[in-house]
Amino acid sequence: MDSFNKDAVIKALEDAGAELPCPRCGNSTFMIADGYISNPLQDDLETMKLLGKSIPTIVVICEKCGYIAHHAIGVLGLFPPKAEEEAKND
Ligand SMILES: [Zn+2]
Repeated sequence: MDSFNKDAVIKALEDAGAELPCPRCGNSTFMIADGYISNPLQDDLETMKLLGKSIPTIVVICEKCGYIAHHAIGVLGLFPPKAEEEAKND
């Protein structure tokens, strides 16, 4: 995946209207983790696959209570063009 661009993440969140206060404590200041998180999808609960399909997300963390929110980068339009084509062909 291409390099992480925090400015693009902030703009995408603002464009999506994701600007409400923390749902747990009401605080209005957040930090954004310096990278993506890959959430691997599992076919069953008996084994754990780390390679294969996943939902890449960016992570917003409440600076007061630590509440973590994940936002799917595909929905925010943050997929690099090449990765987006591979996801469509999957
Ligand atoms: Zn909070």
